[in-house]
Order: sequence, then structure tokens, then C-alpha cells
Amino acid sequence: MPAQAAAADDAAATVAASAGTSWAETMRRKFDLETYTARLTTQLPALRTTAAARGADEAAALKAETDAQAVMDKAVATERTMYARHAGAKNAAKLAKKALVAAKKQKPASKTRVAKATAAVKKADDLVKSRAVIARTSTATLTLTRTRHAAAAKKLAAATTAHDTAVKTVAYAEKRIASWPKDRAALAAQATELSEAVVTQARVKYSTTQVYGVTVNRVVAFSFQRMIDDAAKAGVKLSGGGFRTREQQIALRKSNGCPDVWTAPSSSCRVPTAIPGRSLHEVGLAIDMTSGGSTINTRKSAAFKWMAANAGKYGFVNLPSEPWHWSITGS
Ligand SMILES: [Zn+2]
Repeated sequence: MPAQAAAADDAAATVAASAGTSWAETMRRKFDLETYTARLTTQLPALRTTAAARGADEAAALKAETDAQAVMDKAVATERTMYARHAGAKNAAKLAKKALVAAKKQKPASKTRVAKATAAVKKADDLVKSRAVIARTSTATLTLTRTRHAAAAKKLAAATTAHDTAVKTVAYAEKRIASWPKDRAALAAQATELSEAVVTQARVKYSTTQVYGVTVNRVVAFSFQRMIDDAAKAGVKLSGGGFRTREQQIALRKSNGCPDVWTAPSSSCRVPTAIPGRSLHEVGLAIDMTSGGSTINTRKSAAFKWMAANAGKYGFVNLPSEPWHWSITGS
């Protein structure tokens, strides 16, 4: 299996084997999958070119093998003919010898007939010898054509394998790229599930701190500050709203028009808002990002583009449905 295909299998296995995976692991795999798919998409044209070239190689190898087969078939026929002619010459020589014996026995003796018969025997023997040489040469030629055909057949087998592999690699890449949104959705669902576990576990004991006026969990404060600083160096002013209490989350559910506070899914609210107890904001591990005082609500903004390209390095993942919401799990 090609290396890319093996990597894709790893990614698929990650999605399948979600149970018991830590959120950190899920995050890492999510990034891997994203990077991997992007790389495959970039590589696809070259993979297709390679497959086409291997196809041409195989066609050329097939033609060479067919030609070698024809040459060999011809050599087989030639060899058969040459041995038949050798056998014919041997028969003729036998008859010439019989004729000579008969000539010698003739009474009264005829010197002329004996001389003629002797000359005929010599000529027939010479022909046997020369045809034996030709027959042996035809065998050598046949052996050579067999060797050449075997080599051509071996090349054809290798070219066929190379072509098949290249075609399979293209098919695999296409399949992986096509299944990417599904994989991504599966990972997002996993992240949502894991976020609840993160909130439950982190809530037991955590503390928050301020980073440029944004309240975040202490465990992400350092990387969050670095991200803000690095963005500023790149000319992108970032800030946001991080921590909120459970009470604030409940109030938000109400003000964002969720059908009810505790059970309606986040997506049923006018503005998607997680069920209290499931939002990473409640432990300061999610931040709704702003830039220049406004919420980042479009993927076209410079701030979003910078975040999309860089936030992963600081451990923040975007929730695809909300350009402003960045957290440690992407939910
Ligand atoms: Zn949020």
C-alpha cells in the first residue's frame, strides 16, 4: 500500500476508534487529517500525471512483448523447417549411398556409374553437414528470441504492476478527498462529545486569569497571550470573550432564543449556544474572538484568515459553524 494510503487509513481509523480517545488526541488527529487532505489535494494532479505515464509505459511494454512473441514464434517455425530440411538431406544421403552400393555391384562394372554415384554421395554428405550447421544456428536464434521474450514479459509484468499501483493511488486519494467532509463531521461530533467531558472534568478545579482583558483558563493563558502578541506583530488586532459563568451561559441561552435552557440542541437557538454544562466557555477554554472591537463573523476577514492559518499552533481550533468561536477541541 502506498504511504499516502496508509496515512489515510490511520486518519480513517482515528475517526472510527473514537471511544476512549482523549480530546488532545482528537485535536491532534483533526489537524493531521486536515493537513493530510490538503496535501493529497495538492498532490492529486501529479498523481494523475504519474498514472497516465505508467499507462503509456504499460502500453509500450505490451507492444514490445507482443513483438518479441511474434519474433519468437517465427524462430520456432524456422527451427522446425531447418531440422526438417536436415532430416531430408540425411534421407537423400542414405539413398545416394544405396545407389553407390548398387553401382559397385553392377556386372559388368561401369566406372562411370560408380564415379557418378560416389560424387553424389559426397555432395549429399556435404549438404547434410551444411544443413546441420544451419539447424544448430536456428536453435541458437530461437534460444535468443526466447530470452528476449522472457525479458519483455517480465518488463510488461512490472509495468502492469506499476500502472495498477499508480491508478490505485489516484483512486485512493480521490476517495479520501471526497470523504473528507464526512470525516470532518465525525471529528466535530467527537469534539462536541469530548467537550462535555472536558467541562465536567475541568470544572472540579480550575482557575482563570486575564490576558489583555480576556478571562481565560490558566492552562491556555500562556499560549493565548502568545497568539495575541504574534497576531499583533502580523498587524492583526485580536481580542475576545472567554470565560463565562454557568449563570451567564443560562442567560445567554435565554437571550439567544433557544427553545429551552437545558435540552434543546445548540443549533436550534437563534444564535447557536451550547447547553449549560457543555460549553467550554464555562471553564475558560473557549474564546469568542473579536478584531478591532467587532466579532469575527466572516471567514473572509483578515482576522479569521490569520486565525485559520495560525491558531492551531497555539492549540486553538475553530468551530466551523461559528467563525468567532475558538476552543481547545473545536466545539
Ligand atoms: Zn463561543
